[in-house]
Amino acid sequence: MTLIEDLLTLYRVERQLRGLRSRVDSAEIYLRVQQRQLNTLQERQEELETHKRQRQAHAGNLETEGEVVDERAAKLRDELNESSNTRQYQAVLNEVNSLKDKRKEFDEQAIAELTAVEKIDEELGELDDQLTERTKVLNSAQEELVSRKAEIKDSLAEIETERAEKASAIPGNTQDLFDSLADDFEGEAMASIELIDKRRREYACNTCNVHLPFDVVNRVTGRPDEVVQCQGCLRILYASDDCREALVK
Ligand SMILES: [Zn+2]
Repeated sequence: MTLIEDLLTLYRVERQLRGLRSRVDSAEIYLRVQQRQLNTLQERQEELETHKRQRQAHAGNLETEGEVVDERAAKLRDELNESSNTRQYQAVLNEVNSLKDKRKEFDEQAIAELTAVEKIDEELGELDDQLTERTKVLNSAQEELVSRKAEIKDSLAEIETERAEKASAIPGNTQDLFDSLADDFEGEAMASIELIDKRRREYACNTCNVHLPFDVVNRVTGRPDEVVQCQGCLRILYASDDCREALVK
């Protein structure tokens, strides 16, 4: 077999292998997406729980401060009853009134905090539903991945062995070139030369459509143990049947 024939065999096996792996790859990507979405929801949950704790603590502090105000006000009311002159009475009364305002302010703030906590609870409830739903999807994505892996396990091992065998027929540097092209183009490491116009000797790369000079076409067909890359897409060129026939006739 010529080098190009060996490469074409490797190319065919490479594509089979990638096709087989792609089912597992896509299941892996899907699983990763689900995991990311679940993480985002969990982060939001933690964030909300922190806010909730902060607001509850603040409401608790306001309650304590309110009690201190109440105690002070009760004490002042006793003083009010005992006060002997109008000036003193008025001064204590003023303080009592300002304490009332303070108390009212604390109450309003505490209500605002508790209302915010209720809202957070609502959002946490919705988040809980979403987390349950997302976890179900994640679990089934995990099962799907496991079953796809199991499905291809045997044939994958077989094709991997076959690929290694086919690759061994090819010299090291050409193998490296093939591998890097296969990685760059998802397995499409080779491109055929197509006949455009026989009379005008026009040929093109079937993958990137770049026109190929006639001497390139001649090299590919005439020296099948040499690697020639497309000038446009860098893939390894091989002659299509049309192209070969056009050249012999
Ligand atoms: Zn090309």
